[in-house]
Amino acid sequence: MDFRLTPEQEELRRKTAEFARGRLRYDLARADSEGCFPRDAWTAVGRQGLLGLPLPSSLGGAGADAVTAAIAWEALGQGCPDPGLPFSLAANFAGVVVPIWKAGLPDQQRRFLPPLLDGTRIGANAATEPEAGSDLFSMKTRAMAKGDGYELNGTKVCATNAPVADLLLVYAVTAEAEGKPPEITAFLVERGTPGLHLEPFPGKSGLKTSPWAKVRFERCFVQGGLRLGEPGSGRAIFERAIEWERVFLPAAALGAMERLLESSVAHARTRKQFGQPIGKFQSVAGRIVRMKLRTEAGRLLLYRAAQALEVEGRAPLETSLAKLWLSESWVRSSLDAVGILGASGVFADADASRQLAAAVPATIASGTSEIQEALIARCLGL
Ligand SMILES: Cc1cc2nc3c(=O)[nH]c(=O)nc-3n(C[C@H](O)[C@H](O)[C@H](O)COP(=O)(O)OP(=O)(O)OC[C@H]3O[C@@H](n4cnc5c(N)ncnc54)[C@H](O)[C@@H]3O)c2cc1C
Repeated sequence: MDFRLTPEQEELRRKTAEFARGRLRYDLARADSEGCFPRDAWTAVGRQGLLGLPLPSSLGGAGADAVTAAIAWEALGQGCPDPGLPFSLAANFAGVVVPIWKAGLPDQQRRFLPPLLDGTRIGANAATEPEAGSDLFSMKTRAMAKGDGYELNGTKVCATNAPVADLLLVYAVTAEAEGKPPEITAFLVERGTPGLHLEPFPGKSGLKTSPWAKVRFERCFVQGGLRLGEPGSGRAIFERAIEWERVFLPAAALGAMERLLESSVAHARTRKQFGQPIGKFQSVAGRIVRMKLRTEAGRLLLYRAAQALEVEGRAPLETSLAKLWLSESWVRSSLDAVGILGASGVFADADASRQLAAAVPATIASGTSEIQEALIARCLGL
């Protein structure tokens, strides 16, 4: 087994990290405090070709394999000081681009993918409801067949990117029968569709530049041509897409953890107390060793998950392992970094405390850690 990256992967990683460090810089303290969405940075990521890396060139992508795409997103997370931007990008990619790529009709792909890939349009995924979080498919939003389309009624919450989105991918119940699971179907709903209402939702404690909203559908009519996949294919579309999210969200987290590790080592080597660098204290060095171990183990899990997705098409076990390990590790490594930095780790604009605030919600999004454990247990036959 060869763990080395190919020269092309090395080059993509180098170029992406350089791009992220140079172009994804904005007044983050202000953006965080005002909850500003970094629209220009989003456009720049699209122009850089990072939004559709694993899609075939016939659909406007770069035709990269999933491992190469994950390597690029890791570099994006490492170079971009704002954890909110990669989070929003992953929601756009896995929540909207992947479903259209995997389940869209050719004319849906032609119409919606190019602007989602070049960064001119933004997608949001609306699945979660006030009463349907982990138990997602107990959703109450209904889509009733009407004329040549469907009428949607219901309320979604936590929809990342919704305040700035041009296109929403919405999951709704299309049929129910006693004793059977409800039939779930996916729909593409464009901004401005009558009956689609974006409503304020509480701000987050982290990932502040990644906006979210409550979305209400009130007699919202959607043309039949905007149904994604066959009636009843919504679960499969969702489950397939979320496996990609469980690679791309952790990839950016891994990159951010690498940045934390670097800054923690640099600080532990230069900050002196009691006449010596604090890194010479075994307990401080131990924190750094554990950060390194989490990062290295996480990278193996991540690349393995991406490879399984590429080869098998579906990878529920590998993607849940990667998501669980990396999101929990991100919290622990951010806490270690804050500890090593002392008071400077909790300065309002410190990278470590911004990452800690981002890492906590990342353990909930894309399925909580307990749900990842349940999925892994199921794959093991429990
Ligand atoms: C930052 C962020 C962004 C998000 N973005 C989106 C988005 O773009 N689109 C979207 O549709 N949703 C989004 N979500 C919603 C997210 O998918 C849900 O928050 C998540 O699925 C958990 O649902 P819940 O918050 O209702 O918690 P609940 O399901 O109420 O869970 C509460 C607690 O109970 C535990 N629990 C629940 N069921 C079980 C079980 N069977 N076994 C063990 N423990 C269990 C959970 O693990 C958790 O600890 C986002 C969430 C966050 C935090």
